[in-house]
Amino acid sequence: MLIPHPRTFICLACNWKRTAIALSDCLMEGRDWFSDCPECRHNELETRLATQAEIMKERLANFLPSL
Ligand SMILES: [Zn+2]
Repeated sequence: MLIPHPRTFICLACNWKRTAIALSDCLMEGRDWFSDCPECRHNELETRLATQAEIMKERLANFLPSL
């Protein structure tokens, strides 16, 4: 099974940013993939491969949702 590299999605309209770590190659819209911004509905998001720091931060956020 090929797991996609974590990606960071960035909205240039409102500065929303999200790092999505897919758990499988089955991508779920709104969790592993964003086609538009959940904040402002801008539909041209920047996407790039996530950095190690962003992946670490996202993993921590998932383990410790209260933080
Ligand atoms: Zn936005």
